[in-house]
Amino acid sequence: MDFHCHLDLYPNARDVYAQARDRNEFTWLVTTSPRAFAATSRVLGGSEKVLITPGLHPEIVGARHAELDLLLDQIRQVRAVGEVGLDGSKRFQASYEMQRKVFVAVVEQCAALGGRVLSIHSRQAVKDVLAVLNAHSGYGTAVLHWFTGSGSELKAAVEQGCWFSIGPAAFNSAAGQSLAKKLPRDRVVPESDGPFAQVDGASVMPWSAGQTAQLLAGAWGVPPAEVMKILDSNSRRLLGLIRALDC
Ligand code: MN
Repeated sequence: MDFHCHLDLYPNARDVYAQARDRNEFTWLVTTSPRAFAATSRVLGGSEKVLITPGLHPEIVGARHAELDLLLDQIRQVRAVGEVGLDGSKRFQASYEMQRKVFVAVVEQCAALGGRVLSIHSRQAVKDVLAVLNAHSGYGTAVLHWFTGSGSELKAAVEQGCWFSIGPAAFNSAAGQSLAKKLPRDRVVPESDGPFAQVDGASVMPWSAGQTAQLLAGAWGVPPAEVMKILDSNSRRLLGLIRALDC
């Protein structure tokens, strides 16, 4: 399974899609803009095994915020949303206020519709992401993807009920390895974040859950097979939450 993948953005997307459908029980394809969601839904097509969701990536909010109304409309028709969130890094500082506006509107819409499952980007913005979620009870379930906050931010996110999706690339840094140790084991699911996320210069593929289990096994001091069981059971629970939503 893979709970955060930009499958539409691999150079050979059709081929990766076909392989993901064969190799994975479930793949969550998060798009980066409402128009990309429309195009990808048309070209690749969702299915039981491949969930395609509308989003507006914080890194491109500066250029694409005019698509917000389209996004809010698309959210009516789906059970899950992503990729959305905030990016507080210097590079995207100029669009930060617009990012907040978009993210607040998205979370508000999720709450108004009775809840959604969201795949959320929170780079250097964990505090603000958690504050927005906290201010909109009933928004649903938050899955923080590739979490890179501090230990205390992780603790706050856990206390707020967040889930976490993590992939092999998160283990590239010592900080990532140390965070992985502290993740709540009953709320972790695998992700690839491919093709952006890379390990040793190659894009991580949607069927990398086994690799993630190996890496988590090292971090947790638990046999890989045991970690795989935990990831499987968590994945089923999260999928259950998605499928139980009305839309
Ligand atoms: Mn991503």
